[in-house]
Amino acid sequence: MQIEPIEAWLSPKSSPLLIAGPCSVESEEQMMNTADSLAKSGLVSAFRGGVWKPRTKPGSFEGIGAPALKWLKQAGTKHQIPVITEVANAKHVEEALKEEIDMLWIGARTTVNPFYVQEIADALEGTDIPVFIKNPIHPEVKLWLGAIERLQQAGLKKLAAIHRGFFAYQSQPFRNEPKWEVFFELRRLAPDLPVICDPSHIAGRSELIGEVCQSALDLGMDGFMIESHIEPHKALSDPLQQLRPYDLDLVYKALEKREEAIDDERFISKLEELRRQIDQVDSSILDLIARRQDLAKAIGPVKYENQATIFQMRRWFKVLENRKQKGLSLDLEEELVHELFQLLHKYSIDTQIKNHH
Ligand code: PEP
Ligand code: MN
Repeated sequence: MQIEPIEAWLSPKSSPLLIAGPCSVESEEQMMNTADSLAKSGLVSAFRGGVWKPRTKPGSFEGIGAPALKWLKQAGTKHQIPVITEVANAKHVEEALKEEIDMLWIGARTTVNPFYVQEIADALEGTDIPVFIKNPIHPEVKLWLGAIERLQQAGLKKLAAIHRGFFAYQSQPFRNEPKWEVFFELRRLAPDLPVICDPSHIAGRSELIGEVCQSALDLGMDGFMIESHIEPHKALSDPLQQLRPYDLDLVYKALEKREEAIDDERFISKLEELRRQIDQVDSSILDLIARRQDLAKAIGPVKYENQATIFQMRRWFKVLENRKQKGLSLDLEEELVHELFQLLHKYSIDTQIKNHH
């Protein structure tokens, strides 16, 4: 993947990178006051602000539209800070480019739709404007990457992903489930792609933002896009999750920075020792899984000869219950044991189907 490192096109004012600004640009005054206050700390590398808002229900505030682009741009020009807004179709792109918006992002509800992403990519062909791509609302890493590839095919190289969490039918304590494993997979598939975290849409509540930011840093993400409003309680969209600029500073300054590679000998030898032990445990786990799979191979024909179904529901419920109890006595989370045995059972069934007779 040919992607330019983020520092080459967005000079960071602080590390980790911080993009901040209101969920929606609501008025000239709100945008300017928020930007003035954000600029004071000197930490913010770009101002965000949505002018076309993809709302779940009709009748909510859907953004001011194109006229608000001017207010966003004015705030950036005043403080010499680049500005970024969300585009969802070719018309938005055209209007944003006309107002000289510096960078664009594609929202979670747009990344899901390849037709829209392609239309945006086509409209951007020939420019080298930076584009941030939010994850689609459901955890499908290939769709996320597919959107990025469409932009690459249009010749764009200044690209980054934004991890904003995933819709969950029951999402607690957060508004959207982080599902960090999707980020791990994105990193594996596109190691050079910068990925920043949007803790505002993950958390959904301003008091949880610090905790989400720290997790993102612990996992090695490259920065943040955080919603900030001069008077969050008066915000026309996402009032619960926006931080006052002053509180954003506090949250940001309280973060503990992390490095992937640290050259301290004591740290390295301690880490290596623990990793050696983990490697041994993993090897034993694999030996045991292989034994379990051999047993599954043997049980297939036994069921076949007796004309029994491969899937035995009552037995499965008992296995699950028993393993969860055992797990609890070992201090293992119920969810971990549940997911682990679901996976083991799935592969056991597959093996039995293959070795039925
Ligand atoms: C936003 O950033 O305000 C927004 C609408 O985000 P998302 O696409 O992540 O819901
Ligand atoms: Mn928002």
